Amino acid sequence: MKLLSVIVPCYNEEENVADFYHELLKTESFFKSKDVEIEIIYVNDGSKDNTVAEVKKLHEKDERVHLVNFSRNFGKEAAIYAGLKTSKGDFVVMLDADLQDPPALLPEMYRYIAEEGYDSVATRRVDRKGEPPIRSFFARRFYSLINKMSKTEIVDGARDYRLMTRQFVDAILSMEEYNRFSKGIFGWVGFNTKWLEFENIERKKGETKWSFWKLFIYALDGIIAFSTTPLAFASILGVLFCILAFIFIIFIFVRALIFGDPTSGWPSLVCIISLVSGVQLFCIGIVGQYLSKTYLEVKKRPIYLIKDEF
Ligand code: UDP
Ligand code: MG
Repeated sequence: MKLLSVIVPCYNEEENVADFYHELLKTESFFKSKDVEIEIIYVNDGSKDNTVAEVKKLHEKDERVHLVNFSRNFGKEAAIYAGLKTSKGDFVVMLDADLQDPPALLPEMYRYIAEEGYDSVATRRVDRKGEPPIRSFFARRFYSLINKMSKTEIVDGARDYRLMTRQFVDAILSMEEYNRFSKGIFGWVGFNTKWLEFENIERKKGETKWSFWKLFIYALDGIIAFSTTPLAFASILGVLFCILAFIFIIFIFVRALIFGDPTSGWPSLVCIISLVSGVQLFCIGIVGQYLSKTYLEVKKRPIYLIKDEF
């Protein structure tokens, strides 16, 4: 008998916990026929609603249901890491609690791993139906930008819905960084990944935890975690400004020699000073971003804290 661990990060998902369970169990007969047992690990990421009570109810009826209960909200990335760490399965899959990742795809995903020898099967949505157009626009820009800046491939529309072998999971767990950007980490470890596509499914119940601002910060974190191009960009900007200043100096010098030096040009001076100081602050800001991430990394704080589990 092999074991499949199903990891479900939950933050205020009381309405979805049971629905998810029933939807997942529809694949049970398939896995039984393949001699695969299922365990479900709900990771409660500091929910303020009755998510824990809902999971307890399921656990009382079915001991294959487990809970990892965080001491507070640590974010989805931490929940994924905790789930992977707790899982014991030969195969591990992660899905959102809101049924936006259809469990019905699982048999097909499993076949790619068991029969075609892939190390992981990942999913991407091919459209962004039901999403505000402005968000889609920025998401597209983000993916094209980060793929230009980073050597690690980060797939547009990739979901965290992914089935993995134990070896793949162990590779992910060996990356113990504090600033976790899963979309990059999955690409970084390599191995053979099969991509499946599906059409976007809107959230059944409850609401999304991602505001535009949260997504923006997440995008910046992703760039900083998987690219040092902004640092190089700051240096290049510095060199460009030096060259520009040098040309300017020669121009002023020659002009003073030919026409003398009437004391004018105060407005242009103010413009130049404010422009240059703006660019300097911008570049210091970039360096600061990397420094702050390094600071958090160096502290070696735990990625999550568990209050209780069963
Ligand atoms: N989630 C989490 N911690 C958070 C935010 C979200 O564990 O701080 C979980 C959430 O419960 C859900 C999944 O991550 O199962 C995806 O969240 P959501 O559906 O809000 O994101 P979206 O699908 O809108 O990108
Ligand atoms: Mg969702």
